[in-house]
Amino acid sequence: MAQTIRTDVAIIGAGPAGLLLAHLLAADGVESVVVEARSAEYVAARIRAGILEHSTVDLLRQVGLATRLQAEGDEHRGIYLQWPHERHHIDFVDLVGRSVWVYGQTEVQKDLMAAHAATGQQIHYEASDVALHDIGSTSPSVTFRGSDGRAHRVEAIAVAGCDGSHGPSRTAAPSAGRQTWERAYPYSWLGVLADVAPSTDELIYAWHSDGFAMHSMRSATVSRLYLQVPGGTSVDQWSDDRIWDALATRLGHGQGGWRLTPGPITSRSVLPMRSRVQAPMRLGRLFLAGDAAHIVPPTGAKGLNLAVSDVALLAPALVALVRHGNGTLADAYSETALRRVWRATHFSWWMTTMLHIGTDPFDAQLQLSQLRWVAGSAAGATGLAENYAGLPIRY
Ligand SMILES: Cc1cc2nc3c(=O)[nH]c(=O)nc-3n(C[C@H](O)[C@H](O)[C@H](O)COP(=O)(O)OP(=O)(O)OC[C@H]3O[C@@H](n4cnc5c(N)ncnc54)[C@H](O)[C@@H]3O)c2cc1C
Repeated sequence: MAQTIRTDVAIIGAGPAGLLLAHLLAADGVESVVVEARSAEYVAARIRAGILEHSTVDLLRQVGLATRLQAEGDEHRGIYLQWPHERHHIDFVDLVGRSVWVYGQTEVQKDLMAAHAATGQQIHYEASDVALHDIGSTSPSVTFRGSDGRAHRVEAIAVAGCDGSHGPSRTAAPSAGRQTWERAYPYSWLGVLADVAPSTDELIYAWHSDGFAMHSMRSATVSRLYLQVPGGTSVDQWSDDRIWDALATRLGHGQGGWRLTPGPITSRSVLPMRSRVQAPMRLGRLFLAGDAAHIVPPTGAKGLNLAVSDVALLAPALVALVRHGNGTLADAYSETALRRVWRATHFSWWMTTMLHIGTDPFDAQLQLSQLRWVAGSAAGATGLAENYAGLPIRY
């Protein structure tokens, strides 16, 4: 016999989308129960995104989640765009009056977990057999087996599917009721974390005939670096020396006196590159947010930020639905969120295709021409800055 839990909103997934939603709902007196497949330790340690756009930082400030971000994060004015022998600073603050912040997703996640614990609301880690029921009705539910092996049933007014691209939410509705658009790219990113001070003051996005490279950072003592590698690459194929040699070549070590300082690599992973959008983002009483509804390649630094903007739109819609029985915002949620999702999807695709090397030399010349235009024209640079620093939540 399943133990029944009654709440306002059942949230599946304790990533940034799920926990931020729980926080925003709690601030408006709406109760939630979070169901998460992994352990708290695993969720807190996952190394992923690291760039927060302007509107994400504004929202975190407004809801009291930015204390550590402001103390330990690093505000950046822009990025460098580079190709062999040329490096150009794109200054977002000068161009569009907005900055971005370097603050790891692991830190955002820890802040969200601490805030959630402080509210005393329920969260079930290490849940298995998570399933959604009756999402087409006004009383949907979520069943799961808890870490103790016991069966649970969460009955709610609405279900928020914040369980990423591999969770059960995005396929919970009949396939006839949803549409999916996808693009798989023929390359991946090999990403490393290194215990060494960044060799740059701003992120470097580097086009190179060997493949794209990027120099990012997590703190004054930790660098985050990426290399374009062929799809299907295994981390075992890349020794530390091979990684540092490729980074030095592609990032332009020695050019104009610039030096890349190598250091101990503490983590490495391969991230396949793909774009996916699923619509609608609302299916009856199931609302999708974050990676459950869309995936972007990380070149535009949009994945985490889109999860935040979805939830910023979803929370008031659920508050109106749960507290006042008013479904106007809930009805508009999918269309409103998808406008921003498609803009970020286009920007991420545009950055990716402008910077990654394919097999066609004609494409490479077009890329270089576009890079020169973006870096050299106010119109080109402003377009990049506006999208990268982030559009308003209601776009
Ligand atoms: C390896 C990797 C590297 C990335 N690097 C970058 C980057 O450099 N820059 C960038 O902008 N973006 C990056 N991203 C994307 C970014 O991290 C995501 O867009 C962001 O985490 C989305 O947040 P979310 O809450 O929607 O999903 P997630 O963070 O994926 O959270 C979903 C949660 O649901 C849980 N879950 C899954 N299945 C179930 C289930 N059956 N039942 C219950 N819970 C379940 C998961 O364990 C997880 O905790 C990366 C993503 C990955 C996977």
